[in-house]
Amino acid sequence: MGAGLTGSTIARCLADAGREVLVLERRSEVGGNVRDSRHESGVRIGHHGPHYFRCSSLRIWDFANRFAEFRPVQPRILALVDGTYEDWPITSEMSPASAASISFNGGTNSGRANS
Ligand SMILES: Cc1cc2nc3c(=O)[nH]c(=O)nc-3n(C[C@H](O)[C@H](O)[C@H](O)COP(=O)(O)OP(=O)(O)OC[C@H]3O[C@@H](n4cnc5c(N)ncnc54)[C@H](O)[C@@H]3O)c2cc1C
Repeated sequence: MGAGLTGSTIARCLADAGREVLVLERRSEVGGNVRDSRHESGVRIGHHGPHYFRCSSLRIWDFANRFAEFRPVQPRILALVDGTYEDWPITSEMSPASAASISFNGGTNSGRANS
């Protein structure tokens, strides 16, 4: 019941095991909350919000790659300091001079800016 991730995965596994499967979906489109489509500009747009795929299981990763292409994502946590985005947390790898230039109370700031 339902052609979201759960229903589709169960249906696929049953079909792979040789069972006959009928998926019933109440919407006019499949995918559930992970539904997306490609805009005419070429940009892929999530209908219900953007999604990241994270897993530590090679078996699940191989399964998912049968049906979709993925692009690597490298998330970074940044701190907004005086209007500038800084790497967070501040580590010992940051030079003392750079660390000293960071101000949390309105002073100067020479860190990297990111968008
Ligand atoms: C904005 C947003 C961002 C998210 N980001 C992430 C992310 O980055 N990474 C991540 O892993 N997860 C993310 N999630 C969670 C992820 O989307 C859900 O865990 C996943 O889509 C759930 O899949 P599902 O098949 O269980 O449910 P759904 O996607 O809700 O699918 C259920 C389907 O069943 C259909 N259905 C329901 N009732 C009936 C019925 N009675 N008869 C017929 N059809 C029915 C529905 O129409 C729907 O298509 C996000 C969710 C949202 C909303």
